[in-house]
Amino acid sequence: MGFFTDTSVCIGCKACEVACKEWNMIPEDGLDFTAMSLDNSGGLSADTWRHVAFIEQRKPIGVQETGVGRPEGAPDPVDLGMPSFELPGASAGEEERGEFRWLMSSDVCKHCTHAACLDVCPTGSLFRTEYGTVVVQEDICNGCGYCIPACPYGVIGKREDDGRVWKCTLCYDRLGEGQEPACAKACPTDSIQFGDLDELRERADERLRSLHDAGIESAQLYGRDPDDGVGGDGAFFLLLDEPEVYGLPPDPVVTTRDLPSMWRHAGVAAAALLAGITATFIGGRR
Ligand code: SF4
Ligand code: SF4
Repeated sequence: MGFFTDTSVCIGCKACEVACKEWNMIPEDGLDFTAMSLDNSGGLSADTWRHVAFIEQRKPIGVQETGVGRPEGAPDPVDLGMPSFELPGASAGEEERGEFRWLMSSDVCKHCTHAACLDVCPTGSLFRTEYGTVVVQEDICNGCGYCIPACPYGVIGKREDDGRVWKCTLCYDRLGEGQEPACAKACPTDSIQFGDLDELRERADERLRSLHDAGIESAQLYGRDPDDGVGGDGAFFLLLDEPEVYGLPPDPVVTTRDLPSMWRHAGVAAAALLAGITATFIGGRR
């Protein structure tokens, strides 16, 4: 089971962020002015398990109505004496003002098929559920923090006041009751869809095709491919631009990928060292 987040229909209402906080009783993490458009949480953390990113771009909005042009006959803008350099829109014609779009995307833990956070957890606090998701058991986490640098997406974080790590559980408790995760339930546009991963992939492929047919060539799926560096994400996305634009790594790799070969090399080195010491010891006794 997993998430397909279709960012092309996200309206940035943040219902998902709020529903996640409310259901999981996640503490408030600052209602700060981040200077990042309407983004007030800045990114995923121990206290933000869904994060709605707002990206402002000087690009045509595509086939949608922009809504930023003034209707015919509308009065000219009035100077209210607020601090500003010029009247709104004075330097740009209506046409240029239409060359603006907002990308909105609700990010979340990717519930990776090969999850490095799970590989490095020494206590077994992180585990793979019967739904294929990755969950932290807060009563077992000892706060060592090994999983934090292991996550290739920078998802998991430590709550400073209790020292343990926290992240999206894909509403493990709700799944057990046959309910969908709170964010998917609350999303008014179905930007967040929950379900069987194979079905979601088919739906995503179909949606991608229709966007390409509509001329939106930049649309792409992220985390959908089971052959990528993390074996595919349990939470994947339809993006309207490159992953980097959304703050996502373009080519994520499971950070524990090289561990088996490192252990092999360490084993060979240790065996060689032991053989050397033994030879020296035997040679010294002769
Ligand atoms: S995104 Fe990070 S925290 Fe989530 S399952 Fe993958 S490695 Fe673990
Ligand atoms: S609830 Fe849906 S539409 Fe609203 S911000 Fe979240 S993903 Fe976007």
